[in-house]
Amino acid sequence: MPVGQHAAARPPQHLADLGPAERRAEAERLGHQRFRADQLSRHYFARLTDDPAAMTDVPAAARGALAEALLPRLLTAERELSCDGGQTRKTLWRATDGSYVESVLMRYPGRVTMCVSSQAGCGMACPFCATGQAGLTRNLSAAEIVAQVVAGARALAAGEVPGGPGRVSNVVFMGMGEPLANYSRVLSAVRRITDPVPDGLGVSRRAVTISTVGLVPAIGRLAAEGLPVRLAVSLHAPDDELRDELVPVNKRWKIAEVLDAAWAYAAASGRRVSVEYAMIRDVNDQAWRAEALARLLASHPVHVNLIPLNPTPGSRWTASDPGVAAEFTQRLERRGIPVTMRDTRGREIDGACGQLAAASRPS
Ligand code: SF4
Repeated sequence: MPVGQHAAARPPQHLADLGPAERRAEAERLGHQRFRADQLSRHYFARLTDDPAAMTDVPAAARGALAEALLPRLLTAERELSCDGGQTRKTLWRATDGSYVESVLMRYPGRVTMCVSSQAGCGMACPFCATGQAGLTRNLSAAEIVAQVVAGARALAAGEVPGGPGRVSNVVFMGMGEPLANYSRVLSAVRRITDPVPDGLGVSRRAVTISTVGLVPAIGRLAAEGLPVRLAVSLHAPDDELRDELVPVNKRWKIAEVLDAAWAYAAASGRRVSVEYAMIRDVNDQAWRAEALARLLASHPVHVNLIPLNPTPGSRWTASDPGVAAEFTQRLERRGIPVTMRDTRGREIDGACGQLAAASRPS
C-alpha cells in the first residue's frame, strides 16, 4: 500500500475551493462581514500571500481566525530541485495527510509554464510510469491544485527564478494523476486559475492544457463546459493491441472512440488537440507505427508532441534512440502533421511525472 493511502483524508477547506459568492457566504457563516472574503481573495490571488500578519486591512482580532478558516496551509515543500540554470524548478510537496505530489515550473523565453498534479498517485496504471506503479492515493482538492500555481507565481514575483520577476503564463495538468478522473475539482481549479484577479489568478483560459489518457465521457463533459482550454490526449500507440498494454484504460475506451471525442472537443472549443506520444525504444517507435499514427491523425486539427521517455529506475522501458525518434518525426511531417519533439526539461531532476515522489516514497 503506498504511503499515505491508509491515512488519506480530505484536506481542510480553503478559499480556493470556493467561487467568489461561496467565499462571501462562508465568511458570513463564520461570523465575519462578507467583504472580508474579497480582502482575503486579494491577498491570496493578487498579493500571493496567506500570512495573516501581512493582512493589515483586516482587523487584527479577525485575521487569525479568518486565515485559519479560509487560508490553511495545504502543501509544505519537502524538497526542491532545479536545473537549466535555475529556470526549471521541481517541488515535492507534502499534503496535510502525508501524501506527496509534485509540480514543475519551467521558464522559457517569454513564458513560464507550471506543470501541476491533480491527484496524489494515479489509478491509470500505465506500466512505464513511476506514478502509475504506486496506484491512486486520493484526489487533490481544487485548492491543493491552485496552491501549486500560487507557489510558482510567488517564486516568480519574488524574483527567485533567474530571468527577473515574472508571472505564470501557462498551466498544464500533466503532473501526477489523471485530471479527468478528478473532474469537478480540476474544473474548479481551472476556474480559480483563470478567473480575473483578484477572484482568481488571471491566467488566460487558452493557456491552460488538460491532459487525459482518454476518459471519453469526461472529454464530452469538458467539451460542453464551453471553456477554451486545450485538450491533450496521451495516445502513446496508434494500435489498440499495444495501447491496451501501455495505457490500460484503452481496454475500456478504444483509440477510435478517444480520437472521436477529441475531434468533437476540438470542434466545440475551437482549439487544436495535442496528441502526446512517449517515445519508447523498440516498443512504439517503429516506422510502421509512425505511418499508422499519421493515418489516424491526418486532416484533423492536431499537434503531436513526441516525448522521449524518461526512464524510471529499474524499469525495462527506456527512451527511443535519437535517430529512430528523428525518423518517426519526419514520417509524421511528411504526412503534413505538425509535430514537436518535446524538450526534456527537468530530465536531470527526475522531471517526468511522478518520479520525484516515487524516489522519495519510503519503501
Ligand atoms: S502516465 Fe499519467 S495517466 Fe498513466 S499512470 Fe502515469 S500519471 Fe497516470
